[in-house]
Amino acid sequence: MGQSQMNRRDALMSSLGAAAIASIPAKEAFASDLAAVTRTGGETTLTRAEIKELADSLTFALLRPGTPRYDSARKVWNGIWDNKRPALIAQCADSNDVISAVNFARTHDLLVAIRGGGHSISGMSVCDGGLVIDLSPMRSVLMDLPTKTVRVGPGALLGDLDRETQAYGLVVPAGVVSHTGVAGLTLGGGIGSLMRKFGLTIDNLLSVDIVTADGQLRHASNDENQDLFWGVRGGGGNFGVVTSFEYQAHTFGPTFIGGGCLYPMDQAKDALEYSFEYSLNAPDELNIVSGMSITEDGESAAFVGVTYAGDIAAAERVIQPLLDFGKPTLQAIQPSNFVEQQSAGDSRNSHGRHYYIKGRHINDFDPQVLDVLLERWEAAPDRFTTMRFVRFGGAVGQVENDATAWPHRHAMWDMEVGGHWTNPDLSEEYVQWGRDYWDALEPYTAKEFYVNELMDEEQDQVSESYGNNYRRLVELKNKYDPTNLFRLNANIEPTV
Ligand SMILES: Cc1cc2nc3c(=O)[nH]c(=O)nc-3n(C[C@H](O)[C@H](O)[C@H](O)COP(=O)(O)OP(=O)(O)OC[C@H]3O[C@@H](n4cnc5c(N)ncnc54)[C@H](O)[C@@H]3O)c2cc1C
Repeated sequence: MGQSQMNRRDALMSSLGAAAIASIPAKEAFASDLAAVTRTGGETTLTRAEIKELADSLTFALLRPGTPRYDSARKVWNGIWDNKRPALIAQCADSNDVISAVNFARTHDLLVAIRGGGHSISGMSVCDGGLVIDLSPMRSVLMDLPTKTVRVGPGALLGDLDRETQAYGLVVPAGVVSHTGVAGLTLGGGIGSLMRKFGLTIDNLLSVDIVTADGQLRHASNDENQDLFWGVRGGGGNFGVVTSFEYQAHTFGPTFIGGGCLYPMDQAKDALEYSFEYSLNAPDELNIVSGMSITEDGESAAFVGVTYAGDIAAAERVIQPLLDFGKPTLQAIQPSNFVEQQSAGDSRNSHGRHYYIKGRHINDFDPQVLDVLLERWEAAPDRFTTMRFVRFGGAVGQVENDATAWPHRHAMWDMEVGGHWTNPDLSEEYVQWGRDYWDALEPYTAKEFYVNELMDEEQDQVSESYGNNYRRLVELKNKYDPTNLFRLNANIEPTV
């Protein structure tokens, strides 16, 4: 790559890797045979010799219960899954490590979870008794400035990607919380604050390197393995372990016009209704998110947020109607720094809290949905409630439904609702609260949902949500993963 540069974190991770390996005494890691869970939930035993063989084939580390770092490495973002205890965690540093881990899982018929940034809300990147293929050490972000392309490791977080690209005044459109993983977000589609201008993250994906269930490392792009390339753009982690993503970046930032307005509870319904109306005729440069939040004073408030991906003078004209609306308690739409904006929601979405959050698309906006949302909206002392709508359209809708596996090109809005808390004893009560909330909302939503907002949906809901693309996804699954080795995801069930 011309002018490519090694992310400093790569060098750091490799020295950390060496230290980690050195810190795991072989006698602890391989002291005994290990009970494990198979792909289909049965019991199996891995012998010391088999475990040692896998460990010897990895350049990074193999963790098992009792070894240092096992407990921190098995935890994912959503603390509700803290009870899951994999038999082994293969921490991978490169594609060869991934090939070893995939071959080991297939040979021993193990249950497998793939972990990138660990943000799967439904806890799919960890498993009980199986093998976690942990890609978190692979955090490189390599720029190629002449072509404005970026090669990203599957353990990279959005913050890694944004910081590196923004240093050159470039951006790859992705999500909005900086500690989210690039890998899972991309494979599910990738929605975010620049999507109406630049498309989903998958619309800017040029190629992937992927280890399929047979242990082969393949390159997939519009020129090679086109079928696989179609499937990884929205089909999630169903077809293999992606070891490298290549994206087209765009000129944007580091300063842009964005921010939001806050409205008190007595204006909440009007403000939210206005945000739907305002978003209908918005230009592609304007991305709009609205919803409810709880302020630092513990007060409930509605918000309408905007990101403008274009000329500053035009931004003022486009945003003026929003500034003229209602009587906001806070109006902060101004020149902003993109990297800072991207981490503005980080602490409100911190690791380890217990989350019940899910989403549905809305195609026909019925204002009554707001009544239901607001009736049940409540600030409980030990639960943080959260809700947001984002407008699709723009560049997202300019791609055909079957051009990639992502089937929702004509969806109008995405709604996400849920809550989080810290006390595990409250989980049963609050998960039920979340389910009841959603039972009340579902009459007003589409059946389709974004696979990266999967929480507790059934298999038939996943198939239905993929619509006409599901049949083609099943054909691909039959070809590349006929035994459903990669099943912990919004699963495409093979039929062979
Ligand atoms: C706080 C927060 C903010 C979010 N914001 C956004 C947002 O703005 N926009 C958006 O689109 N989504 C957003 N999401 C949803 C997010 O896209 C998904 O949670 C996504 O799965 C996160 O990717 P990850 O790598 O961190 O997840 P992980 O939990 O590591 O992985 C999730 C799944 O992706 C698959 N996977 C991961 N890596 C690979 C790989 N290398 N190869 C094959 N399969 C793989 C696996 O099936 C895995 O189970 C957010 C989630 C959270 C928790």
